[in-house]
Amino acid sequence: MQTDNNTSVAVYRRLLSYLKPYRLGFVAAILGMVGYSAIDAGFIASVQPFIDRGIQEKDTDFLKLAPLIVIIMFVMRGIFHFTATYCISWVGNQIVKDMRQQLFGHMMRLPVSFHDKHSTGELISKITYDAEQIKQSLTKALIVLVRDGALVVGLIVVMFWYSWQLSLIFFLIAPIIALIVSFVSKRFRQLSHKIQHAMGGVTTASEQMLNGHKVILSFGGQKIEDERFAEVNNQTRLQGVKMDSTSAISSGVIQLIASFALAFVVYMASQPEMLDTLTAGIFSAIVTSMVMLLKPLKQLTTVNSEFQRGLAAAASIFKVLDEAAEQETGRLELKTAKGNISFEHVSFHYPGHSQRVLSDISFTVPAGQTVALVGRSGSGKTTISSLLPRFYEVEQGQILLDGQNIQSYTRSSLRQQIAVVSQHVMLFNDTIANNICYGMAEKVSRELLLDVAEKAHVMEFANKMPEGLDTQIGENGVSLSGGQRQRIAIARALLRQAPVLILDEATSALDTESERKIQAALDVLLKGRTSIVIAHRLSTIENADSIIVMDQGKILEQGTHAELLARDGAYASLHKLQFGSDK
Ligand code: ADP
Ligand code: MG
Repeated sequence: MQTDNNTSVAVYRRLLSYLKPYRLGFVAAILGMVGYSAIDAGFIASVQPFIDRGIQEKDTDFLKLAPLIVIIMFVMRGIFHFTATYCISWVGNQIVKDMRQQLFGHMMRLPVSFHDKHSTGELISKITYDAEQIKQSLTKALIVLVRDGALVVGLIVVMFWYSWQLSLIFFLIAPIIALIVSFVSKRFRQLSHKIQHAMGGVTTASEQMLNGHKVILSFGGQKIEDERFAEVNNQTRLQGVKMDSTSAISSGVIQLIASFALAFVVYMASQPEMLDTLTAGIFSAIVTSMVMLLKPLKQLTTVNSEFQRGLAAAASIFKVLDEAAEQETGRLELKTAKGNISFEHVSFHYPGHSQRVLSDISFTVPAGQTVALVGRSGSGKTTISSLLPRFYEVEQGQILLDGQNIQSYTRSSLRQQIAVVSQHVMLFNDTIANNICYGMAEKVSRELLLDVAEKAHVMEFANKMPEGLDTQIGENGVSLSGGQRQRIAIARALLRQAPVLILDEATSALDTESERKIQAALDVLLKGRTSIVIAHRLSTIENADSIIVMDQGKILEQGTHAELLARDGAYASLHKLQFGSDK
């Protein structure tokens, strides 16, 4: 791709900005690496005086110094090595930490429509795998680039120092190696993208299996899931092998080229006119340098692959970070809403979907009253309830709260006014008490907590638990029944004292016995609040101030229970269906 380079420069620049706060550690790491390689190169360089002066000329004083020099050099080498490793690990882990935190925060603030489009597994893999990948790849690339790069430079300097004629061969092979590296790195970049994608697939499939474990068991879906996983699992394997084999081939070829250079040097040295200028020490130093060069050269060819892998991971993270978070368009801070709600000609389709889910919806709920929404599933009831807290933005028409377009309020203050109890209750891995108090700005007193727990009929089951309200309920409240979870959700809503309440099929998953109990809790909750109640069972909404019957995103009819029955329309026939033909 043509734009590949541009974007990788941009990604690279952006990565550097993460480095900025830790640049001191980074500089120390670089110095450590360069020092380490300088010592290695210096060691090779001292081969010449050791042989020529020490051995050939039998300079024993010089030879006596040698052991001391060896010890000093290795002590320093060790110090440099530790400094480099420690500092680079510190910097790398700091950057990963920063990036993860940022990613976590950003994902949390992204609009609901973003999360509709991306699977949880894919997003988790970005926080865990991709972030780790950046650290590992870039750290490794940097170590190789700086430490092995410095060693290569050092060794070449040593060679040129002793015999520039023999060392000229390097100018011949360098461009060939560069060419191979650039070709290989393009392929690496593509493969890295594929690997990340495949990793996302692995997490998504695993997550699905873990979340839907019971469903899989009861429907005997093991084979389907096994196959689904085998597919993505095999993809990661395939890409991984491709990557490693490309790397092996390229480093093999490069070493071959380097070995030609070595052969050439040995050949040149054997020429009589060359032989005259060479001493045993010089020849040994040059040949040792060339042999020593092979390893860092091989390492250097992998730099690009590592680097590309890191850049690809960074690009995938930056893509999420670049998604626009929820824009705060409203400025009004709602303190306590009165709760007059009105929908005016609202039409809506989900972002990225062409199907119109709501068309021209208009209704009002005066403060303190209850409006019930009924209708077939898929008729748009839940959609209406997600528009009110602005999980999605209305594009046509408007929704007013207390006479103001809800878009003119700040999101947080608007959401403070609304409590939602839905069929799916999300519970956190914490105690019952903390789940009830979730998100409360101030500390909730024990009396208040007990009061709402009592009203929501939570105490009934909490009292039977070992530690009452302070019992841990496990991940997403696995140890609780549907009705118990629902009651916790109601207690949560009660505690918030929000003036607007949305109940989205809050009781539909329950048996009649538990429903009666919850209904009692709900009646407490509904008192004095503006409520939108979505219900399947018509018996639960007969007392609503107004009932709206929906179908395919439109309002079919609206009125009180008695009015609608008298009208003998859609509501009346629904009613007949549920209650038999007696009325
Ligand atoms: P109800 O609550 O009345 O059963 P919904 O409001 O959930 O209906 O759904 C109305 C329509 O919108 C359905 O056709 C459904 O497929 C579609 N829909 C619901 N949620 C989404 C979503 N997040 N993205 C795209 N389409 C959706
Ligand atoms: Mg629904």
